[in-house]
This record gives sequence, structure tokens and C-alpha cells, in this order.
Amino acid sequence: MERKRILTGDRPTGKLHLGHYLGSLQNRVRLQESYECFFIIADLHTLTTKPGKEHIAQIAEHAREMVLDYLSCGIDPQKAVIYLQSAVPEIYEMNLLFENMVSVPRLQRVPSLKEMARSADLNEMPFGLLGYPVLQAADILMPRAHLVPVGKDNEAHVELTREIARKFNYLYGEVFPVPEVLVGEVGSLVGTDGNAKMSKSLNNAIFLSDDEKTVKKKVFGMYTDPNRIRADIPGTVEGNPVFIYHDVFNHDKAEVEDLKLRYREGRVGDVEVKEKLVRALNETLIPIRERREQFSGISGLVDEVIYDGTMKMRRESRETIMLMRKAMGLSGTWNKISRKAETVKKKREKAEL
Ligand code: ATP
Ligand code: MG
Repeated sequence: MERKRILTGDRPTGKLHLGHYLGSLQNRVRLQESYECFFIIADLHTLTTKPGKEHIAQIAEHAREMVLDYLSCGIDPQKAVIYLQSAVPEIYEMNLLFENMVSVPRLQRVPSLKEMARSADLNEMPFGLLGYPVLQAADILMPRAHLVPVGKDNEAHVELTREIARKFNYLYGEVFPVPEVLVGEVGSLVGTDGNAKMSKSLNNAIFLSDDEKTVKKKVFGMYTDPNRIRADIPGTVEGNPVFIYHDVFNHDKAEVEDLKLRYREGRVGDVEVKEKLVRALNETLIPIRERREQFSGISGLVDEVIYDGTMKMRRESRETIMLMRKAMGLSGTWNKISRKAETVKKKREKAEL
């Protein structure tokens, strides 16, 4: 039996952080053994909020850093097709075909889009940003994926993909699987500042490529219980970012329980809690850093990975688009017209001889 497929990816806006890791990367590394994987470098999606040429000029460098992060986390380019969205023309084409399968009010109800417009300081909703989940449906359905591992904020987008897949299949016949969403162990990791989402743009991220000194500095600057101004004041563990991180990254569960107990009773200082968190984080980050060091020393490695993946994806995409055109009858329109035109041309040539 053919293996089922995964599609997911990230916008190339910078280096990846712990939120990306827990929201989606961890699942990708785990599932690459059992699924055929497609990871998209979603640069067309960056145009929805940052269409300027100065931003486009930075994409190649961001894409390289991002793919270096992928490889450092253990993604194997032999198992995964890693490709550049803007270099696959069929994605633009599919996006247009899907635009007719969703209503404007449906898109206006997608909660994340308004939030994105706001954080990008846009006064009006760009047509392309409203269509963000439609383009994402094209990303997901181009390789005819079955599973989409993403963070919580993307769950609603995948729901729209499912609707579009169903609509297409209903109108034109079964072409697409209706993909399932898979949210990571932590669907939305809090930032070091206590903000609900770790994000590059909010300046509250610990990057997978941060060195030990930087991690220590960021952890020691982390937001904790604001009421606890002295170590002997009982503190709150629930919702406290430092303990949320301990829960995920510290594998010494007995140590975490002991720290929580003493924190609640006012018998431990922030320094001890944070020092132990730094150690726990480094246990996860050291192997990632080491691989990053190793891979970044190989000239052109990531470029070749992206090149090979994009070439493969172009072939895959032509196949999907052909299936779509055929199912919709679009190829039939062209066949009728071109056949007639060719016959007429041939006749004329004969007559002129
Ligand atoms: P940032 O806001 O930091 O720039 P992003 O949300 O723009 O990151 P995307 O390319 O939109 O990054 O998302 C890439 C993937 O990472 C998505 O699946 C998204 O849900 C996930 N993700 C991003 N930030 C987090 C987070 N803090 N916690 C969990 N998952 C996250
Ligand atoms: Mg974001």
C-alpha cells in the first residue's frame, strides 16, 4: 500500500523557535518514518502581510536558516520533500480554482486573519490576506495530503481546507483526501514574556539556534508570578511560563514536582527554578545546536535540499493539476477548441500547397 502523506510548513520569516518545535516540528520528525512528507517553505504567504521588495529580498536567507533548523531537529531530506512555494507555478493556479469554492463571509469569520492584519499594522484587510487559508488549502491539497501537523493557531485554517476538499470532490468527483489536522504536544507555547504565543515578531522567543549564553539570559529575564517579589512569598505555578516550560522540557519529573511544591510554599528562589530550566532546555537544544554546527559547515547543503525538493514537487504538482483540470472539464474546453483550430490550420496549409 502507498504511504499516506503529510503536508506542513512555515513562513520563511526568520529562525525557528521552541514554539515551532513543540507545535509542529516534533511531530514531523516522529512521523517522517511512517508518512511520505512534504514540507513547504511558504514564502507566498509572507506576501500577504509583507509584500515589499525589501522583504522579498530577505526570503532566500530566511529559507536557508529555516531548512537548517529542520535538518538540525532531525528532519531527513531523504524522507521529506522540502520545497519553495513560489517556485511551484501550479500552486498559484490551484489557489485561483479554489477561490470559487469558498464564500467571503466564511473567510471573514476566520479569527486569525484579523489578528494578523492587526499585528502587521494594516488598516484594511488585503484581498490576499483574506485568502490566506485558501492558499493554504492549495498547499495542503497539492500533494493530496492526509495529515497536517500544525500549531493550534492553524487548526481553523485546516478546517477550511477540509471544506474546500469536500466541495471540490462533490462538484467534480473524488480527487482529494479530506485531510486531518494534528496539533502538537503544546498547541500554542507561551512566550518568555507571558504572552499567549511565542512569536518572532513579539520578541519573546527562544530560538533553536540560540547559544547557551543567550538561552540563560532569556530564561533569567522570563516573566514569572508578578506578585512574588521575594523568594519566601508563596507563588502561583498554574499558567506561570517558567513552570509551563519545566513541564514540557524537564524530563526529571520528580525535580519539577519538588520545585512546584516549594514555589507554592515560598521555599524556593526564582534563581534555582530558572537555573534548572536552563539545564533542561539545553538538554533538548544541545544536540540541535551540534547538528546545526555540522550542517552549516557543508557549503550549499540546504540549497541542494531545497532545489531537489522543489523539482520533485513541480512534478507532483503537474500531476495534481492535471487531475483537477480533467475532473473539472477545463482540459476538455481547451481540447475542443485546440483540436478544431489545428484541423482548420492543417486544411489551410494543404490548400495553400
Ligand atoms: P511567528 O509568529 O513566531 O513568526 P509564525 O506563527 O508566523 O511564527 P508560521 O510560519 O505562521 O509561524 O507557523 C509555522 C508553524 O508553527 C505553524 O504550524 C504554527 O501553528 C506553529 N507555531 C508558531 N508559533 C507557535 C507557538 N508559539 N506554539 C505552537 N506552535 C506554533
Ligand atoms: Mg505568526
